[in-house]
Amino acid sequence: MSEVDRVKCACSDCVCVIPPETAVERNGQLFCGDSCAKGHTEGSGCGHVGCKCSG
Ligand SMILES: [Zn+2]
Ligand SMILES: [Zn+2]
Repeated sequence: MSEVDRVKCACSDCVCVIPPETAVERNGQLFCGDSCAKGHTEGSGCGHVGCKCSG
């Protein structure tokens, strides 16, 4: 098991912490997924358990 630096999703409503290599980069910021990267324009959350981000 290797230690991986994890980053908080750049979405302010999002509590997700993800490994940078799986993050979605947009405008120099790292997001946990497409929903957050797009600013929840589709009204959907990231779908991660325990996270209420949905715009
Ligand atoms: Zn989230
Ligand atoms: Zn997120």
